[in-house]
Amino acid sequence: MPFPPLPADRWRDAPARYPDPSLRVLDPRFERYLVFNAAVERIATGFRWVEGPVWFGEHDCLLFSDIPSNRMLRWDARTGDVSVFRDPSANANGNTRDRQGRLVTCEHRTRRVTRTEHDGSITVLADGYEGRRLNAPNDVAVAPDGSVWFTDPGYGIMSDYEGELAEPELPTAVYQAGVAAGAPVRLLETHDRPNGLCFSPDGSRLYVVDSGAPRTITVHDLTGGRPDAGRVFAEMAPGSSDGIRCDADGNLWAAAGGGRDGYDGVHVFAPDGVLIGQVVLPEHCANLCFGGPARNRLFMTASQSVYAVHLNVRGA
Ligand code: MG
Repeated sequence: MPFPPLPADRWRDAPARYPDPSLRVLDPRFERYLVFNAAVERIATGFRWVEGPVWFGEHDCLLFSDIPSNRMLRWDARTGDVSVFRDPSANANGNTRDRQGRLVTCEHRTRRVTRTEHDGSITVLADGYEGRRLNAPNDVAVAPDGSVWFTDPGYGIMSDYEGELAEPELPTAVYQAGVAAGAPVRLLETHDRPNGLCFSPDGSRLYVVDSGAPRTITVHDLTGGRPDAGRVFAEMAPGSSDGIRCDADGNLWAAAGGGRDGYDGVHVFAPDGVLIGQVVLPEHCANLCFGGPARNRLFMTASQSVYAVHLNVRGA
């Protein structure tokens, strides 16, 4: 699959001419999801490595992590202002919300997954397994049964940049927390660097990104709430994916980076695994989420900037 670069003037000062060439149809099935007169917007910039976007509709804002800056930020959809939400953030990475709307966060420095209660207090959901510390939880998703599934690829302890340098104590794995009090359940040890994860809208499938080797997205059928060994859903070469989310039709929107201009951004896969479209960004995209009052706005955290685009589909 060729990934041609964008026109050279797309990210200069001039506005994009509709239809935005950043929105690329690779299969006719993608056309229905695009709005003719909506462009990809860079809504905030000046960060180091942004991750973990999560929408809070009741406050009309997006929260996201800037991992190396050791803080979480809040983008106000009404004013466009960015303010500090949490500082220090324990080098927080992925975020999501549980069934009660509470913020769930992966923390690199403290090597744990936490839940922020409605009163602001912090509950630790997982920080170890069989007496050993987690490496550095990366990303998190809430399962249909309300339990919290997260990945532990170890990136956050590989340097002092995104956490604190340390030797891993556990193999890389996917875990489930919140089933009962105490330690998480280890679900999968089959990925080199398990990273983003999400569930299909009907709850029958789990998708997991491997950003190590090989660079793939796997899909796992769920039976009785447990994933099978899975199979390759998408190959991400020449780059890699990171965070992923499904839309309401079951398409998988996958952050993409490390390829090149024309590749980096978001790759969209139909449920059958065919790459049907792209959102091409001028920066390596690490994660994304749906938000806005109708949940039809895609927010993308990409290196030093946050981008957004309105779509004709809602998040799952
Ligand atoms: Mg990640």
